[in-house]
Amino acid sequence: MWQLRQKTLEIHGGSIEEDRNMRPGLYRTVAFPLGSFERGKRLFAGEERGFIYTRINNPSVDILEKRLAALEGGEACLATSSGMAAINLLALHLAAPNGHIVASNRLYGGVFHLFREELPKLGISVTLVPKPLDLEQWEKAIKPNTKFLYVETPSNPVIDVFDVSALARLAHAHNIPLVVDSTLATPALATPLTGGADIVVHSLSKYMGDGEVIGGAIVGKQDLIDAIRLTWFRDTGPCISPDNAVVLCYHIESLFGRMKEHCDNALIVGRYLSRHPKVKRVFHPAFGPDARRNKKLMSKGFGGLMAFEISGGVKKARIVLEALKLFWHAPNIGEARSLVIHPATTTHGQLTPTELESAGISEGMLRLSVGREDPKDLIHDLGQALSKI
Ligand code: PLP
Repeated sequence: MWQLRQKTLEIHGGSIEEDRNMRPGLYRTVAFPLGSFERGKRLFAGEERGFIYTRINNPSVDILEKRLAALEGGEACLATSSGMAAINLLALHLAAPNGHIVASNRLYGGVFHLFREELPKLGISVTLVPKPLDLEQWEKAIKPNTKFLYVETPSNPVIDVFDVSALARLAHAHNIPLVVDSTLATPALATPLTGGADIVVHSLSKYMGDGEVIGGAIVGKQDLIDAIRLTWFRDTGPCISPDNAVVLCYHIESLFGRMKEHCDNALIVGRYLSRHPKVKRVFHPAFGPDARRNKKLMSKGFGGLMAFEISGGVKKARIVLEALKLFWHAPNIGEARSLVIHPATTTHGQLTPTELESAGISEGMLRLSVGREDPKDLIHDLGQALSKI
């Protein structure tokens, strides 16, 4: 087989050589026959590859893992029960015990909380870089026991775009890996590993699964994936179900087309909001002083996530949110239907007021996950909601 292109891999990745079914088969089983006494021994010792027990590996999950690795341009992948499980496993594997992590402060609220509250309880310290677009701030935060750099790009909810290659160079100059949360880009818009990153993590619960299933993934070198699978993953059990893995494979087949629709619609909505007199600021990488730089870094588009700020704080933001009729008030990103949320009191409610300010999240900010409806209807809805303030 020649080197298949990415658009082809979203449909065939992981299954063309491996599976006799045209579509990924569902292996709804817990255990697999070990065969001979000797083979059982080798499988459990990690000396032979093969299916053992679904908490460790499963043929349906294996196809998902191979497809994601192929799409990201990575050697191997470990699929997990959720994005949080993937990030937690990776942090434990790379930094426990007594390690230090340097991370952007522009993170999904759950990851922010894991880094600030939970990992320190296990002796892992984390420095959240306050101005993460400035590379010097990262460099200053690196210590002798720093185990990795961590960035989410684009970030949720202010949609900052980071220069992965520059961060990778910095990490490598200190002999540590760069980990990128590429959930909001998906492989349709960015492949951080080809830009120099060492490890990619995903919440598959967003664009990949189109709002239907929860899942997560780590993509990186085979050695790293094997080591996590046989230690923290096997011993703590955050595996994805075979059913969810199959659903994810089906949805990934349409990822590239769906992402284009999300990108186009978010641009149209962003343009409308940026001209609206009641909107103070639009958070979308195609608008504002960094637009050129951002386009260079993510030439295929920025996805469907964006935010906007209304003067008048939480009071006015609440009126607009409650007046929206087509946008569902729900905490997710990347579904067919458009969604709205008030990050300061929900997804990022675990941040203190100072942390919110430092992360660029104001009380008057509403986050939109722009879906794949006709954008004229989305604009109509936003217009009628904004007319209420
Ligand atoms: N990373 C990002 C950028 C997210 O937005 C989220 C969830 O919203 C996560 C990770 C966590 O993923 P999950 O909800 O699948 O655990």
